Amino acid sequence: MPELPEMETYKTLLEQLILDKTITGVVINREKSINVPVDHFTRQVLDQKIEIMDRRAKHLIFHLQNGSCLLLHLMLGGWLFYGKKEDQPDRTVQVQLSFGVHNLYCIGLRLGYLHLLTPEMVKQKLQNIGPEPLNPSFSLDAFEAIMKNRRGSLKTALMNQEVIAGIGNRYSDEILWHAQLLPEKKINELDQDQISRLYHSIQFILQQAIEHGGYMGELFKGDNKTGGYKMYVHGLEGNPCSRCGTPIIKVEIASRKTYFCSNCQH
Ligand SMILES: [Zn+2]
Repeated sequence: MPELPEMETYKTLLEQLILDKTITGVVINREKSINVPVDHFTRQVLDQKIEIMDRRAKHLIFHLQNGSCLLLHLMLGGWLFYGKKEDQPDRTVQVQLSFGVHNLYCIGLRLGYLHLLTPEMVKQKLQNIGPEPLNPSFSLDAFEAIMKNRRGSLKTALMNQEVIAGIGNRYSDEILWHAQLLPEKKINELDQDQISRLYHSIQFILQQAIEHGGYMGELFKGDNKTGGYKMYVHGLEGNPCSRCGTPIIKVEIASRKTYFCSNCQH
């Protein structure tokens, strides 16, 4: 599932591609991917300019000139592609927005969606999401306060959207490897130094992932920004840990595939 770095990369690139452009066509191939009848959706979205784009946690929000918002969540397996008809990937497209000859294809939306909402509804929908870890207001003190009275494992806490926004299965493994902490370690067992390390690893890994464009495939033909991030542990079972050389282990935690180094994570 795309996480904060992937959605941030999409946002940055899409701002260059579709901001202030008018939506000239709407195709809905899967009605379940939207939240209102197709004709209503089309009426509200067609001929609208995209004035602002935001990201919150793993969501993208497209603000239209008529005040409506499109809230995109790709969930598991969803991805985007932008291009002309001849460049369209050979995959089923659930929702397509056109900008002249270019189209934004929403692909793999099984649980994912593009919902038409008012700004108030967007706010309400996102109200229980925790702080953005790369926001300047997310200080070490703020992180300590969040972790203070929590129970459970580090992996579970990092992936909990109500605790911190935008981190999922992949980057929680990457962050915990970087902080040299075991995914199943209990939050209440962390000392001050470990909390501080975890805080810095959250920022380091997410910033590095954004810098390298996350892990998704290209957003458009010739896109050399998206997908440059190389994982330290996630998906690398059996490969040597780049810190100590011990083969990386895969286990399931809360039915999520979890990767770590049993030697240098404690
Ligand atoms: Zn190691």
